[in-house]
Amino acid sequence: MYSKSEMLFGKAKQVIPGGVNSPVRAFKSVGGTPVFMERAKGAYMYDVDGNRYIDYINSWGPMILGHAYEPVVKAIQEYATYSTSFGAPTELETKIAELITGMVPNIDMIRMVNSGTEACMTAIRLARGYTGRNKFIKFEGCYHGHADAFLVSAGSGVATLGIQSVPGVTTAVAEDTLTAPYNNLPAVEQLIADNTNQIAAIIIEPVAGNMGCILPQPGFLEGLRQLCDANNILLIFDEVMTGFRLARGGAQELLGIRADLVTFGKIIGAGMPVGAVAGPKEIMEHLAPAGKVYQAGTLSGNPIAMIAGYTLLQTLNENPVIYQQLEEKASYLVNGLKEAFGAAGIVHSINQMGSMLSAHFTEYPIVDFSAASAANNELFKRFFHAMLDRGIYLPPSAFESWFMSNALTTEDLDETIAAAKSAMQAIK
Ligand code: PLP
Repeated sequence: MYSKSEMLFGKAKQVIPGGVNSPVRAFKSVGGTPVFMERAKGAYMYDVDGNRYIDYINSWGPMILGHAYEPVVKAIQEYATYSTSFGAPTELETKIAELITGMVPNIDMIRMVNSGTEACMTAIRLARGYTGRNKFIKFEGCYHGHADAFLVSAGSGVATLGIQSVPGVTTAVAEDTLTAPYNNLPAVEQLIADNTNQIAAIIIEPVAGNMGCILPQPGFLEGLRQLCDANNILLIFDEVMTGFRLARGGAQELLGIRADLVTFGKIIGAGMPVGAVAGPKEIMEHLAPAGKVYQAGTLSGNPIAMIAGYTLLQTLNENPVIYQQLEEKASYLVNGLKEAFGAAGIVHSINQMGSMLSAHFTEYPIVDFSAASAANNELFKRFFHAMLDRGIYLPPSAFESWFMSNALTTEDLDETIAAAKSAMQAIK
């Protein structure tokens, strides 16, 4: 069933560390061979062995309308003939900036970069430059990219591989990263009290997606906002996952909480390598060349990436019903999964917000990284493989969110639920 993938993985391991260009793709925590993909269209991906999968990763978020979305493909084809990069400004960069500042609350300006990592790195540098302070607070199990300072108590692949302390990250760098458990306001208050006037920013995934999907408990984000206001700390929402996914204006719009800086990635580039940091003019103009906080990129604002993102974002902006449809599809799936797990007598805890969700095998609510770690992740591994064998492509780790696309039909969801029922009967 996977023989060509197995052969290709063997070859890849000879020339690429671990055989992949991003760790979670290697299936290390679930075992087995990663499936090598050949093409994808809409809700489906097709591997090199000719297997078809219903996709619940969607390139870890970007493909919110499904793969090879026709208007994006056409726009890329047209723009590629103009040049793949100018290294000079284009009108398109202003147009996408205008579109995004119109969609997202509380931002006047945006700077394009090439990844979510770069966006978060820049946001922290900007917060430090703006406040003149060095430390920042992040939450255990949240992932803000692979820049040194973020690899302390990080989620995603760091959690999946169980790496406690990342070699290569110096103690000096790690010392300025303070960590608190997600959803734990008293822990944040304590950190602020212990580090008076030293904290530049609190960075958070407003809905966490890198330890499974974990929702902010009522009052948590509001509490952070108040603490930031009271202590002149910038609140940074890392909306790399949630931006343009939970609502046109992301988590800020959906949850009604203002952030001082916002970072984007994934959907903003429609599958091309794009990230961005955005905020009010007063803060953003500290970035070079308007200000002294330096940040740059040879390929930043790349025309192919910009037209891809612009085309997708325009569709989302003009069709807010997409978010309602996604929510309905996600709820339908979650109800079906609960039924499937229940029928097999498997205890479970499913978190969902909009089109992000995750299933954990535990009777306890999943509110933070410790809870996610304590779930039955051995069972998740078996569930993952049983689903893969039934043509359902889930994240190969319990520490990742599932992302749904609006290309999914009711038939796809029914097929997924039926697969979950049969998978659970097979492995329980
Ligand atoms: N922030 C969040 C919330 C993410 O989920 C990710 C990646 O998954 C990043 C930052 C890093 O983005 P990238 O992988 O584009 O560098």
